[in-house]
Amino acid sequence: HSSLSRLVVLFTVSGGGLLAYSESKSYPGVKSLGSSEDDNKKKRVVVLGTGWAGTSFLKSLNNSSYDVQVVSPRNYFAFTPLLPSVTCGSVEARSIVEPIRNIVKKKNVEIHFWEAECIKIDAENKKVYCKSSQDTNLNGEEEFVVDYDYLVIAMGARANTFNTPGVVENCHFLKEVEDAQRIRRSVIDCFERASLPNLTDEERKRILHFVVVGGGPTGVEFSAELHDFVNEDLVKLYPTVKDLVKITLLEAGDHILNMFDKRITAFAEEKFQRDGIDVKTGSMVVKVSDKEISTKERGNGNITSIPYGMAVWSTGIGTRPVIMDFMKQIGQTNRRALATDEWLRVEGSDSIYALGDCATINQRKVMEDISAIFSKADKDNSGTLTVKEFQEVIDDICERYPQVELHLKNKQMHDIVDLLKDSKGDVAKESIELDIEGFKSALSQVDSQMKNLPATAQVAAQQGAYLARCFNRMEECEQNPEGPLRFRGSGRHRFHPFRYKHFGQFAPLGGEQTAAQLPGDWVSIGQSSQWLWYSVYASKLVSWRTRALVISDWTRRFVFGRDSSRI
Ligand code: FAD
Repeated sequence: HSSLSRLVVLFTVSGGGLLAYSESKSYPGVKSLGSSEDDNKKKRVVVLGTGWAGTSFLKSLNNSSYDVQVVSPRNYFAFTPLLPSVTCGSVEARSIVEPIRNIVKKKNVEIHFWEAECIKIDAENKKVYCKSSQDTNLNGEEEFVVDYDYLVIAMGARANTFNTPGVVENCHFLKEVEDAQRIRRSVIDCFERASLPNLTDEERKRILHFVVVGGGPTGVEFSAELHDFVNEDLVKLYPTVKDLVKITLLEAGDHILNMFDKRITAFAEEKFQRDGIDVKTGSMVVKVSDKEISTKERGNGNITSIPYGMAVWSTGIGTRPVIMDFMKQIGQTNRRALATDEWLRVEGSDSIYALGDCATINQRKVMEDISAIFSKADKDNSGTLTVKEFQEVIDDICERYPQVELHLKNKQMHDIVDLLKDSKGDVAKESIELDIEGFKSALSQVDSQMKNLPATAQVAAQQGAYLARCFNRMEECEQNPEGPLRFRGSGRHRFHPFRYKHFGQFAPLGGEQTAAQLPGDWVSIGQSSQWLWYSVYASKLVSWRTRALVISDWTRRFVFGRDSSRI
């Protein structure tokens, strides 16, 4: 890395003093800065990212035998589920973030934070190349290298544009806190611009046409927030232009919120229709210019151009370039995210772990394992198992692979499971036999769904906490290899594989109406779910400080409405 042969200058506030360090040719690990003999014996853990996965890992890590270094371009954790509320000022940006140094300061583990971006991972030499964050006063020009014994990659993902021309230049994304702040300013900007004299009505209409691309939870929640902001606050302040406002939601698929229960999808579509939000399904955006969005209709292939004033692009996530580069290095090409085993270790690298949106558990291996479990159970090689044997196999699979259990909701599987439940597992072999191949093909049909756990904060946070628990016990297990090593027999790993527990999901639809889909397919829609949403989100906030701020923001909005100053 040629630019690294430059002078490396690192500044760190360490023990209250400012420490400067310079090095010309070799690139020592950052920890070598003033670290004692004792510290050097500690295993060096480097965590990349301070989002849901990284922060949850840091919060749950409590074994002081690690020397932890955190690299992230953001020195805070952001509570992303409330980002849509920030776009319209229902909640202030600072209320949903917590400085990472606040989060780790009370821990017994020594944790150093570097506000920088990882630009390259060198797995062979166990080094991470970093560059100071663009926004700091170091101007993103300082580079340094951090050595690790264990690397935890939790860098999340970036917005996916599917290479659609003009999106990056003309659309807003809704991924980071800065995005939400920019959207808030831009919405108010549109209203002020449309209120200027000497504009034609046509032009005013265009400026006040807000287009949201992507009918997933983020696009839907933003549309609902914007609708409420416009109708509860802005129409009172901009009476001359209020009738010209329009919100359009474009979705390439057949329905919005298609990952939710059908009842929720139908309710959301009807509510948006009543609210005057124009939901256009089967509409794929093919190009965006500064004033027009071109869409291709799925039914007839017609291209239509829609004039717009502001567009928000929210069509899912893509891979960060640094992760793509690392995937090439380790031979993982043609993937959306880093493939890991069920213990979250990156395939083929024992000391690198990947969690959250940048990782995916490799399902091919899971399917191979499942086949092996079936083959082992099928002692007489007949291709069939008795109900009792089947029940045991399924219990074993579900225990190991929570994703499978999650997807047993699939209709075909439901029938099998119901059958198994009814039989209570004591039916004789002669009376009923189940076809292994049939079941395996049912499994592979849901393979594509099983492939990725959803890219949500819930998954990322659970993975972070799981990995920290493994790290907390790693030393103990190494010293005591005969301990409770459940999978040691098969030579795999000392810990239980990661097991995801789904607690349900919310879709706020505006007007104090929220749809909630809770475990067991329990669906609730309306104002009561909105109160559940308030309580759950308030309780999940990362600190009492942010909790107090968010609750006071909600109260302020109820009493005074949202603030429309463009600052
Ligand atoms: P992130 O939380 O994105 O964290 C990535 C971290 O890596 C960040 O700190 C980032 O600064 C850092 N980073 C980036 N590049 C580098 C680099 N080069 N080097 C070092 N560090 C780097 N999920 C839910 O479960 N429920 C919800 O209601 C919900 N609502 C959402 C609403 C919005 C608007 C958005 C955008 C997402 C929402 N999600 C929700 C999804 C959830 O936010 C993500 O799944 C979650 O953030 C993933 O966690 P992560 O730790 O993998 O990534």
